[in-house]
Amino acid sequence: MAHHRATHAEISLKAFKQNLQNLKIILGSSTGIMAVIKADAYGHGALPCASAAVESGIDYLGAGVIEEGIELRKNGIENPILILGSIFPDEVADLVKHNLSTILCTPHLAEVLSREAKKQGKVINVHIKVDTGMNRLGVLPENLLSLTSKICNLPNLKIEALSTHFSSADDEDLSITNNQIELFRKALSQLKKKGIVLPLTHQANTSALFRFPESHSKMVRPGLILYGALPSPILNPVVQNICQKNNLKNFEGVMQWKSKIILLKSVKKGQGLSYSRKYLTEKDSIIATLPIGYADGLPRRLSNKMEVLVKGKRAPQVGTICMDMTLIDVTDIPDVQMGDEVVVFGKQGNEIISVEGLAHKASTIPYEILCNVGKRVPRIYLS
Ligand SMILES: *Cc1c(COP(=O)(O)O)cnc(C)c1O
Repeated sequence: MAHHRATHAEISLKAFKQNLQNLKIILGSSTGIMAVIKADAYGHGALPCASAAVESGIDYLGAGVIEEGIELRKNGIENPILILGSIFPDEVADLVKHNLSTILCTPHLAEVLSREAKKQGKVINVHIKVDTGMNRLGVLPENLLSLTSKICNLPNLKIEALSTHFSSADDEDLSITNNQIELFRKALSQLKKKGIVLPLTHQANTSALFRFPESHSKMVRPGLILYGALPSPILNPVVQNICQKNNLKNFEGVMQWKSKIILLKSVKKGQGLSYSRKYLTEKDSIIATLPIGYADGLPRRLSNKMEVLVKGKRAPQVGTICMDMTLIDVTDIPDVQMGDEVVVFGKQGNEIISVEGLAHKASTIPYEILCNVGKRVPRIYLS
C-alpha cells in the first residue's frame, strides 16, 4: 500500500542519535549509557530506536517488560538488555532462553532463576535494586546484604549491578534525591565491606542525569531526553546551561505528530460544534475537520484547550475531541485548503508546538502524551 494514513508520526532517528551524542559529550567517557526503550521507545518504535542506539554505541538497553526484551532479541538485537520492571517466576525460562537481564529484589526469584539458568547451561546477569525511597521495586537497604550474599552463593547467576531509582529527581526540593543518593552510597559501601564489588552501578534517569551529576555512577538510564523532551520545566534552564557550556545544540524533539485537513466548511455564527455543543461559534467561521481523535491518543481533555499549526500559524482546536475526528478553527488563516498539513506537535514554518506544552495543557507529563500516540498512527522514519 503506497498510501499511509493522513494522521501519522514522523520520527527523526537523526535527532535521536544527535540527542544520544549530546549525552555522551555531557557525560564523558567514564559514564556508560543504558538507553531506555520501554513502552515501544516511549511511542517512537522500540526496534528502530534500539537499533539507532546500538549503532551509536550504547552499553545497555532498558526494556520495561520481558515481552519487549524478547521482541528485540527476535529482531536480532544482541546487546545487553535489562528488564527494568523485573519478571515473574514463571517467566524465567524465557528470560534465560533470550539472554536477558533482570532486576532482582527477592531471594525467591533469585533461586528460581538460578535453577533455570543452570538447567539451560547459561549464566544470567542480574541487577540488584535497592529501594532508597521510591517504595516501588527494590529490596530495602536493611535486607540488601542478606539478599546479595544469597545470590552470590547461587550458581549460574552473576550480579552485574546495584541500582536504584529516584522518586523526585525533578522536584523543586533537592533533598529527597540527595538523600536517595546518600542511601545508595551507603548500600554500596556496605557491600564493599563484605568484599562484594560489582562491575556496574546505575541510578540516574533523565532528570537526575542533568540535575544531580553526583548520581551518574558507572551508568545512567536516560529515557525521555533521548526523545528530545524534558520531564518538567524545571529542567529547561539546567539543560540549556549544560548544552551551552559544552558547545552543543539543544536536544531536539524526535517525534512530530501530524495530520491533514479532510474537510473545510463555513459555519455561521452561533452554531454548536461537535458533541454536546461545548463550543459555539462567535462569528461566521471556517472550520476544518481533522482525522485524528482520542482513539489516536489525542487526549479528549484537551478539547477547546489546544492549538495546532496550519500554514505555519496557530489555529485553535474547537469543540469536543471525538474518537476519530477533531475540529479546528482556521478562520484567521489565509488560503487554507483541504489536504493541508496540520501539526499537533512539532515544527511548521517558524512555529513550534512542544510535546511538553501540550502535556501541560492536558494536566499531564510529556511521557504520557508520547506513550499514548496510538497503534493506529503509522510511524514514518526519517533517517
Ligand atoms: C523509565 C525509567 C527510566 C527512564 O526515565 P526517564 O525519566 O525517561 O529518563 C530510568 N529508570 C527506570 C527504572 C525507569 O523505569
